[in-house]
Amino acid sequence: MQRERYLQLLERAYAQLPETVKEHSRFIIPTVISRIQGKITVITNLGDVSKAVNRDPEMIAKFLMKELGTSGMFDGQQLILKGQFRQSQIQSKYESFLAQFVICPECGKPDTKIIKEDRISFLKCEACGSKNPIGGIRVTKIKIEKPEVGEEIIVPITRIEGNNGIAHVGNYRIIVRNVKEEGKVKARVTEIVGNEIYAEYIKTVK
Ligand SMILES: [Zn+2]
Repeated sequence: MQRERYLQLLERAYAQLPETVKEHSRFIIPTVISRIQGKITVITNLGDVSKAVNRDPEMIAKFLMKELGTSGMFDGQQLILKGQFRQSQIQSKYESFLAQFVICPECGKPDTKIIKEDRISFLKCEACGSKNPIGGIRVTKIKIEKPEVGEEIIVPITRIEGNNGIAHVGNYRIIVRNVKEEGKVKARVTEIVGNEIYAEYIKTVK
């Protein structure tokens, strides 16, 4: 939806330009480059595609993680996402970021800045002068992937029941045997029954 709207705006703005300007003023949408490596996806040019649209890469990283429902790590240029995502999928999320936080909704140009007034963020257009409020980006809620039996996991124990430490992570209830105290522990998954994950205590972690 966002992308369609963005493309519409782009088309409209483009159609309004005199022929001679068109060639020079056409906004080329940057291409996000990514590759899947096992269970992760690496976006290799997030720094560049952020710079190209004059936005904070951290902001774009947060947006992508939220939209793709995953967590990740950003090192200034590369964004490493947990999970496998196709390049086209990431590109379309990046373009919805542009539609929401870069492209002016009035004139369709990308020459905008984000400004803050009284805690409200606005998209201020340097081309047409319009100012439109934008919603903030909330930090992504980390989606927990189901572990596999035998896998070692870090579990934040919040309750002790008998000899077991209990934790609730996402939709899962994790039961770690032989835990005496609350806090983070390393454990090995022994059994998964529905949304309950049983694990064996390995050690306490700081
Ligand atoms: Zn504008």
